[in-house]
Order: sequence, then structure tokens, then C-alpha cells
Amino acid sequence: MKKISNYINGKLVAPKEGQYIDNYNPATGKVYSLIPNSTKSDVDDAIQAAKEAFNSWADLRNTERADWLEKISQGIENRMEELALAESTDNGKPLWLARSVDIPRAKDNFKFYSTAIRHYSSESHQTAEGVINYTLRKPVGVAACISPWNLPLYLFTWKIAPALAAGNTVVAKPSEITPMTAYLLSEICVEIGLPAGVLNIVHGLGHSAGNALISSDDIDLVSFTGGTATGAHIAKIVAPKFKKMSLELGGKNPNIIFDDCDFDKMLKTTLNSSFANQGQICLCGSRILIQRGIYQKFKEAFVEKVKKMKVGNPLNEDSRLGAIVSKPHYEKILSYIEIAKEEGGKILAGGHAVHLDGEQSEGWYIAPTIIEGLDQQCRTNQEEIFGPVVTIQPFDTEEEAITLANSTEYGLAATIWTSDLSRAHRLGNEVESGIIWINCWLLRDLRTPFGGVKNSGVGREGGWEALNFFTEPKNVCIKY
Ligand code: NDP
Repeated sequence: MKKISNYINGKLVAPKEGQYIDNYNPATGKVYSLIPNSTKSDVDDAIQAAKEAFNSWADLRNTERADWLEKISQGIENRMEELALAESTDNGKPLWLARSVDIPRAKDNFKFYSTAIRHYSSESHQTAEGVINYTLRKPVGVAACISPWNLPLYLFTWKIAPALAAGNTVVAKPSEITPMTAYLLSEICVEIGLPAGVLNIVHGLGHSAGNALISSDDIDLVSFTGGTATGAHIAKIVAPKFKKMSLELGGKNPNIIFDDCDFDKMLKTTLNSSFANQGQICLCGSRILIQRGIYQKFKEAFVEKVKKMKVGNPLNEDSRLGAIVSKPHYEKILSYIEIAKEEGGKILAGGHAVHLDGEQSEGWYIAPTIIEGLDQQCRTNQEEIFGPVVTIQPFDTEEEAITLANSTEYGLAATIWTSDLSRAHRLGNEVESGIIWINCWLLRDLRTPFGGVKNSGVGREGGWEALNFFTEPKNVCIKY
């Protein structure tokens, strides 16, 4: 069985204590590879390597680091199909999705930041006659980057690329549930001869390897994407040390549909924004709010289409939904469906596991699920389920829609469907959310700030925001 390795100080190495964790293929429910169960000692080696590599990496010209990023991007492009298959096998997502979204985006993350760092500049202020202020932006040091399982390589590289571009060295930990593409990335770094210690990838469990990483006094900043509870735990450890932190956390996103919307476009996109990647995208809309005038029409059309969405083997082109990422997560989603029923919710579609035949008979599949009849304050509408489960709720007025949309502790993303331009701007302003999509969903521009408000996080990724986060500004004032 394939054993994956850590990538420390430029080499692929086994965990020092020789312990491994089973890695499951969610489509079959079977173990198919082994992951290092790294300990503090492995993490410390990686941090030490990153510290030693820091000065020479930081001293490179931006254009030289940009060239390295471009080589990594090219390395991903060269192994696109292999990476897509690995992502699908590890995560359960349809292969067509990994091939069209996850891996191209990972390649683009490096490409984007290789270009961005060439154009990055800092400010200069003419304060008075004979007085000038300028800002130096220096790399911070060793960056700890931790990412989740839902978009494994996509989110892993979304942190690593700007961190490296800005001149930091990195110790990164992917989710132990989906480690394979991070491992393949380390192979790519070895192939292209990335200088030793610049990027280190340590595999292992969050509460051991992850915790050792964020607790180390030798890291200089933390960039984390994952659940809100984990984010709070990390903040407790990192904040008292006054280190920079960026936390991208959970969501409970509203999808607000007004009766003047372009119905067909809205319906098509809402199928995606509800169930893409089995609903396991932090930006999926899980609370669908529909203006009463089209509630019935929407409900009938949506239920009909969702019942036809095929749940199947992720390797089949016609599978619209693949497998749920892990058995515990599968059980968690099913338990939320039970909670929704106990809360009085009516299941309009799905609401159950799907059992496939043959090789996939022990995989973890759930039918896309629509629930009606719940109020906004119930657990189903307040807590993040992070699976193929949405609720639908009617509303009458714009004010009511805004109140419903803002009635959770989260504020990551919101989608608004209307043809009234003024209303679109009003809601764009009023809805408490880091990202607003109007008449579209997941239309990404890598230059824009990415992140959430309230319990969805602190800080922003993307564009200059990420380069600003991964650098320390220093003001220099000169009187001449
Ligand atoms: P978790 O918070 O469980 O884990 C995220 C990462 O943190 C994993 O690599 C995990 O390792 C690691 N980790 C866990 N505990 C610790 C610890 N004590 N110290 C350091 N690292 C730790 O999230 P999930 O992986 O379950 O991801 C799903 C969550 O991510 C959802 O809430 C989703 O909304 C959110 N998310 C947010 C996004 C955003 O941009 N705002 C984007 C995508 C997802 P391990 O897996 O080994 O436990």
C-alpha cells in the first residue's frame, strides 16, 4: 500500500516515529494509502528547516521568487490528470469537478501570485517640504499554513503561493483526511529543485501535528482555513503571542431569491450553489430564502430537478454528486437530517443515504436534500452542516429577507437574485457577509478580498490582501 512522506528540508522523509494513519477512499469506504502520523519532533524539524532557509529566500528578488512559483505552477499543469484523480480519490468529489475546478485553480494560485509579486509595490508619502515617508514591506518569517479537506489542493496552495511569493518560508499541514495532492505537490517541488526548507509539508492529525505547529514559538504567523471551533482554539494559542493570524472559518450562507429574478438562470445556479462538491464548499448557500410570490413555483421546479441529480461513483462523468469525504462527516450530516425532522422539518427531496452497488457498496453517499417548514432560529438553520442539505423559507419583504439573512453567527458569503438594480446594491450593502454574489455564484476573481465577517473569520485572503498579510509594513520617515 502506498505510504506518503513528509517533505522536510527539500527531502521526502518518513515520520520519525514510523507511525501512519489510514487514508480512506470515500467512494469505496476502503483504506487505500497510509499517511504519516507526524509528531512534534517532525514538525520541529520542518520549522527548523524553514528558519534556516528564510534569509536566502527572503533576500531573493521578487522576480526570482516569481520564477520559482511559475515553475511550481508548470509542475502542477504537467501532472494535471494525475492530481485530479488523486483529489477525487481522496475527497470523493466527482473527477470532472477536480479536473475542471480544483486542480486548474491550484495551478492558477501559483501563476497568479508569481505575477502579483512582480507588480507589488509599497507606498511613499510626501509629508512636507523636505520630509518623505515610505513603507517597506518585509516578509514576516516562517508561515504556518493549515487547510481543510473540502478543496484540498485549491485551498492549500491559496495560502502557500502568496506566503512564498512575499518571501516567507512555509510549514504547511494539509487535512489528514485529504493529504494526497499535498504530497504530490511536494514531489513537484523536489522535481523542480525548489531550494531546501523553503516549503515544508508535514502530514498528521490536527490535534497533534497541527497543534504542535501553531503552538511553536518559532513560527511567525498563522494562516488557517477550517471550522470555527478550531479557529477559536488556534486564536487562543496564537493571539497571546501577538503573531499575525488569518482565520477563514465556517459559514451558513443565505441564498436570497426575489420574485423579479431571472428564474431559469437562478434555478440552474442554485442547483450548483446548493450541491456542488456534495454541498461541502464553504461558499455553498444552505439557507434558501424565496420571496413568497414565486415560492411555490421555485419549490416545485427545484424539487423536480434535485430529485434527478445523480449521486454516483465519482469517476463516472454523469455523477453530479460523489461521495461524502469521511465516515464521521457522513454520520454528522445524516444526524443533522434527523435533527431537522425532530424540529418539524418536512423533507421534500433526499433525506437519506444512498447505497451504490459493487465496488462502491461501502462508500459514503447522501442524496441531495431539501427541507421545508423550519424557522430561522432552529439548529438546522443556525449550525453549519456542510453537506448536501438545504432548507427553503419564504419571505415577503426586502427587510424581512435582510433580517433572515443576517440571523446567524456567520457571515461568509451570500447570493442575491433580483433584476432590481437599486435593491441589489441595497442588499449588497446590508447583508452581513464578506462576499456577496448578485445574480451569480462562485464567480471568482483572484484579485478580490476573500474572507468572512462575524464567526466566519478574521482577515482576508486574495490579491494584495494576502501579500499585505504575509508582509510586515515598516514606516521609514526621512527629513532631508
Ligand atoms: P477543521 O477545523 O476540523 O480542520 C481544518 C484543519 O485544521 C485541518 O488540517 C485539521 O487537521 C487542522 N486542525 C484541527 N485541529 C487543529 C489544532 N488543534 N491545531 C492545528 N490544526 C488543527 O475543519 P475541516 O477540515 O472539517 O473543514 C471544514 C470547515 O472548514 C468548515 O467549517 C468550512 O466552512 C471551513 N472552510 C472555510 C473556508 C473559508 O474560506 N472560510 C473554506 C473552506 C472550508 P485534521 O484534518 O488532521 O484534523
